[in-house]
Amino acid sequence: MSVNRREFVTTSTLAAVAGAVPASLAAQAPAAPPAPAIFTPLRRNVGIFNQRGGTIGWLVSPDGLLVVDTQFADTAPNLVAGLKERSPRQIDVLINSHHHPDHTGGNGVLRPMAKQIVAHVRSAENQKVQAERMKAATTLPDVTFPATWSVKLGDETISARHWGPAHTGGDVSIHFEQANVVHLGDLLNNRGYPNVDAPAGASVHGWVQVLEKMAAAFPADALYVFGHAEAGHPFIGTRTDLHYQRDYFAAVIEMARAARKQGKAKEELAKVEVLPKFEHFGGQKPRLGLALTIAYDELAARG
Ligand SMILES: [Zn+2]
Repeated sequence: MSVNRREFVTTSTLAAVAGAVPASLAAQAPAAPPAPAIFTPLRRNVGIFNQRGGTIGWLVSPDGLLVVDTQFADTAPNLVAGLKERSPRQIDVLINSHHHPDHTGGNGVLRPMAKQIVAHVRSAENQKVQAERMKAATTLPDVTFPATWSVKLGDETISARHWGPAHTGGDVSIHFEQANVVHLGDLLNNRGYPNVDAPAGASVHGWVQVLEKMAAAFPADALYVFGHAEAGHPFIGTRTDLHYQRDYFAAVIEMARAARKQGKAKEELAKVEVLPKFEHFGGQKPRLGLALTIAYDELAARG
């Protein structure tokens, strides 16, 4: 299991810039050697692809080729090359777990070989808004759905489901039912500070609910795929990991609640750098302060 990780997204704005203007990626990327492109089989005909950006899921069988997410325009050709080695098929279905550029930036590369691109309706809206804001071309889904969408390819049934606002307002889980693998997109960032993209419809309280609902709904032995993972932590895991991140957000809400009670200003919360019990989280620390201020606003709105 590779843990090679180069999470690119720092903020929604930076992410939008990166995804909308792929040509500028080379200039923005750190001067490190490029991450290797790695295909990892998981269960039955389902596996993942990692290089840079959100973890990609795939189903490759004699009767179907399905892909979840596309990373960036400069890594997607490596995905396509690997898929072509494994199958002569066109892509029957491409699903976007949500709109962020490290998950949809390669849509245009896969478009010529994809029969359809599927996403939640809010994911498509978010993607459009993002492209308009950046005045850049983007490749939108041609099939959208508000709640659930599923397809049967050979002996595998793939079901996408939106559980409510969480990481954005348009996240879906993708369940490969017979393989019993669930791709979570960015609904789970393994031991890294999760990004709460409020302008795109995210919710801290909602995210707690979504993690609980999914953990209860999927089989106990389901294998989960995470959009991102901190160095030293895998891109796959179990229900325990969902509960772990649920506990992180519950602690965020508790700290915001205590701050409100003590009459602290929201601006103070934005500067918080340590959440007890989650000091070991990696990635972008400002996301903690951001999550705290969003939880603060949510609590205020609830009265
Ligand atoms: Zn994301």
